[in-house]
Amino acid sequence: MECPECQSNHIRKNGHRRGKQNHICVDCGRQFVESPQAYRGYSDDVRKLCLKMSVNGMGFRGIERVTDIHHMTVINWVRQVRENLPDAYAPEEIPEVGELDELQTFVSSKKTKSGSGQQSTTSNAVS
Ligand SMILES: [Zn+2]
Repeated sequence: MECPECQSNHIRKNGHRRGKQNHICVDCGRQFVESPQAYRGYSDDVRKLCLKMSVNGMGFRGIERVTDIHHMTVINWVRQVRENLPDAYAPEEIPEVGELDELQTFVSSKKTKSGSGQQSTTSNAVS
């Protein structure tokens, strides 16, 4: 058996939790029951906070530095959430794409006009 946190084999039995054998990792102090799942041992609030940081573009290593939760643990949480709720953490859609396109066309046509004006000035100076 391995510690889900640090993959150490230095595991001790640590009583029972909800009828299951509980273990503690001697190296990092992490407690877990048999056949541990990634989110065991952390509260829902902590899990949600990590997911929120991930959704807002924070890297898994950055989350690890802030929360002291192993980045593989966070990655597993994100995977689980994406599998269970595919729409819940979709990135926000950018509205009014059509207006943005029009603005871009307007700006580029303006650039072309001033560009051709500069060209004629340059050719005048050469001749
Ligand atoms: Zn450990």
